[in-house]
Amino acid sequence: MFDGLSSRLSSVFDKLTRRGALSEADVSEAMREIRIALLEADVALPVVKDFVAKVKERAIGQDVIKSVTPGQMVVKIVHDALVEMLGGDDQESALNLAVVPPAPILMVGLQGSGKTTTSGKIARLLTTRDRKKVLLASLDVYRPAAQHQLAVLGQQLGVDSLPIIAGQMPVDIARRAMDEGRKGGYDVVILDTAGRLHIDQELMAEVAAVRDVVTPSETLLVTDAMIGQDAVTLAREFNEKIGITGIVLTRIDGDARGGAALSMRAVTGRPIKLLGVGEKLDALESFHPDRIAGRILGMGDVVSLVEKAAQHIQQEDAEKMAAKMLEGRFDLEDMLSQFQQIKRMGDIKGLLGMMPGIAKMKKQISEANIDDKVIGRQEAIILSMTKKERQNPDLIKASRKRRIAAGAGVDVAAVNKLLKQHQQMADVMKQMKKMGGKKGLLGGLG
Ligand code: GDP
Repeated sequence: MFDGLSSRLSSVFDKLTRRGALSEADVSEAMREIRIALLEADVALPVVKDFVAKVKERAIGQDVIKSVTPGQMVVKIVHDALVEMLGGDDQESALNLAVVPPAPILMVGLQGSGKTTTSGKIARLLTTRDRKKVLLASLDVYRPAAQHQLAVLGQQLGVDSLPIIAGQMPVDIARRAMDEGRKGGYDVVILDTAGRLHIDQELMAEVAAVRDVVTPSETLLVTDAMIGQDAVTLAREFNEKIGITGIVLTRIDGDARGGAALSMRAVTGRPIKLLGVGEKLDALESFHPDRIAGRILGMGDVVSLVEKAAQHIQQEDAEKMAAKMLEGRFDLEDMLSQFQQIKRMGDIKGLLGMMPGIAKMKKQISEANIDDKVIGRQEAIILSMTKKERQNPDLIKASRKRRIAAGAGVDVAAVNKLLKQHQQMADVMKQMKKMGGKKGLLGGLG
């Protein structure tokens, strides 16, 4: 997700940061391009207008033009405005559970949006991470297999599901689920409602009736990130009729343009709480506005990357890596250890999206068709360097390049390419440091 937006924005910023001084016309031109980039990513027009107006006002207010690094100031202003648009702080993306259990979580949305899968994912998260006792209940009495589907999911996860009573209607199932929740000492009851292909008043009325019976702790609107411009109508409608407390975006692993994510929060004022990133039941991520803004701006998502890495490498190494990255230091040894970790972690494409500066290299990457083999070759190049060279890439001039190329069994062009790639990554790290990335980015690393 966000690929198109990300590469367009990074080319706007490239132009800006390359210049020493900016005229008012440069800033206006950049704003125009940002506006187009957002519209093309399917962000709703009123949201785009607000956003651009806010950025423009701040850019002018903060004397960007007179500042020493005007381009970077614009990037920072856009970054901060994006974070605001996506929901400000991390706190509000946490799930709220009732003080007196069981806490009902009501899942609503269109058919096929990923409600049932997400119900399972949330059940898994709450049972494994938070050690909660969870009961799953399907209120979908219209699709013949729906209740059964949820029961099977529950079995896979080792999570209880409410026994099915044929012919019972949604409101009664909800009551029974809550009763069972109380009697069985459950912490959370997840109620998966029926969806239709389009917004349907009858269905809305039914969900509203269920809501009145259970008084949910959370009412989560599940939406496919691919939905595009319809996202705004959908979110507004569900929010007005049912009153949602949060949004779950699914299929962000696909190539959605991402605009839905950006507008839904702005239009409803409700936070995006979770992201579905795949079909598997562990493919669920918490939503962190600052990390997503970083991904959109091609600055990468260092914190998520480090967290992922932390699952596979020693905590100590992960912290060292994060600290170094955020200090803006990044030599070829760091690059090598990143390659090695990536190989260990698998899913190279997903991880690459989190690496700083990657938007700029998107084309190169797709041309190179990055996979384990390519990473292996790059690793070989770095391994053919001396320790000194790795720590100080400036040493690597023509004759050293020839030696390294011969050692790795590649041509000099490949060595140049790798050095350039390293330079780009190092530049982004420096840029993040200047932006005060440490505070913003390490915020979520608890
Ligand atoms: P429901 O009708 O809203 O309950 O939708 P389902 O939960 O049955 O999901 C519909 C399809 O979308 C299934 O094939 C799921 O595996 C798939 N799906 C759900 N969430 C995601 C996700 O985050 N990523 C991907 N790639 N597929 C998903």
